[in-house]
Amino acid sequence: MARALNQLREQMAEVADLQAASALLDWDHQTYMPPGAAEARAQQMATIDRLAHQQLTSDSIGELLQTAQSEVEGLDLDSNEARLVKVTQRDFDRERRIPSRWVSEFSQATALAHQIWQEARGTSDFSKFEPSLERIVGLRQEYASFFEPYESIYDPLFEAFEPGMKTAQIRAVFAELRPALVDLVQRIAERADRVDDSFLHGKFEDAPQWEFGLEVLQRMGYDFQRGRQDRSAHPFTTSFSNDDVRITTRVEGELLTSALFSSIHEGGHALYEQGVDPQLQRSPLAGGASLSLHESQSRLWENLVGRSRPFWRFFFPELKERFGQLRNVSLEDFYRAVNRVRPSLIRVDADEVTYNLHIMVRFELEQELLEGRVRVKDLPPAWNQKMNEYLGIVPPNDAQGILQDVHWSGGAIGYFPTYTLGNLISVEFYQSALRDCPQIWAEMEQGRFDSLLDWLRQHVHIFGRKFEPLELLRRATGQELSPQPYLSYLHEKFTEIYQL
Ligand code: ZN
Repeated sequence: MARALNQLREQMAEVADLQAASALLDWDHQTYMPPGAAEARAQQMATIDRLAHQQLTSDSIGELLQTAQSEVEGLDLDSNEARLVKVTQRDFDRERRIPSRWVSEFSQATALAHQIWQEARGTSDFSKFEPSLERIVGLRQEYASFFEPYESIYDPLFEAFEPGMKTAQIRAVFAELRPALVDLVQRIAERADRVDDSFLHGKFEDAPQWEFGLEVLQRMGYDFQRGRQDRSAHPFTTSFSNDDVRITTRVEGELLTSALFSSIHEGGHALYEQGVDPQLQRSPLAGGASLSLHESQSRLWENLVGRSRPFWRFFFPELKERFGQLRNVSLEDFYRAVNRVRPSLIRVDADEVTYNLHIMVRFELEQELLEGRVRVKDLPPAWNQKMNEYLGIVPPNDAQGILQDVHWSGGAIGYFPTYTLGNLISVEFYQSALRDCPQIWAEMEQGRFDSLLDWLRQHVHIFGRKFEPLELLRRATGQELSPQPYLSYLHEKFTEIYQL
């Protein structure tokens, strides 16, 4: 009966294989590849990406989709079959607008740009990266043109990461968040002396940081039989199937918790990928629902779990054993230190209150870039000015400013707001999980995360890409996307820590 559906499934499985092969080349590129291989690797990735794109957008997929549409009629709309057709159609319609020529140009440009960004960041010299970024912004503007007409040039880029969402929604979220956050930052600044985190800064050995991170990951439920952790310039998670989900971190040795929170963060992404229903593998339904959903998982583990008292009641004694510097530090002082709020330069190390201000800086600059209101070469001063306006600090150099993040070198423009949405969604999920499983904190105090991980698997992970992000949120929590739960959470937590 369902002949077209089966053929569709087979052809899309090959697309998934090509995408996984490309992801593996990219993982190698960012971890172990010798620098001299950059040109050859860029060509290899461009070829594979073009082949995947050609197959996904071929006439034969279009025809199979039409027939499969009638084959799934009458089936439960939530069934894997009906969803497969729906999601593949959405991807097909979107990708069909993009010429394969653009895909391989983009793939090659971004593969080359990665190394150039790394060198530019290493020497803190934006001018080295400028021509690459110029090219990428041009390609992204061209990409947006394939989706004309649009309300905002940002829409087509953002929607590629967040199916079903519009730029106007982010603007509304930020308009509500910004004054509340700025106010909270100011009130905390008046009580800055309440929290001392000096013992987190200094010289810390590499090996015990690495090992402690592995232990935390293991306890979180990350399956090392189906994953591994390596080092890279910028931490990331990648997945070639739900049986091979890899993470990376960077150990810098100056801030004790930097590598650890990065491992927990990437571990949250990886648990999501490892938890997708195996039946959805090698199909367009594998992987996370969107980037904000992905980020809701990583931020939930990093902040709501990793910066909580129950978590450190278990792990702090273990950390103390590894680092003699903490000998005279109490649990309470440590808890406050890892939650210290202070405007800082590096987004990934930012606290929960100032973090979203970093995102707003990027979001505004990206819109100005795409709309042609700011030129690439003027980005460093524009960045510094916005940092001053939003966070009250000016980076001393480009490495700690505009060059800090890998994303633009990978062509990920229109991506940053998903971090803020992820923060909001993380709180909505966590509160629902705590309501359903009040034992979560007691388990955590014993170094166990079973009930929390189970809840996330059943309500979020297992569905892969079957549902659009906000629909998945609604199904899991019964709620809409809103900044309010997140703001209340911050308010409550930091009022207590800083005695506001
Ligand atoms: Zn992340």
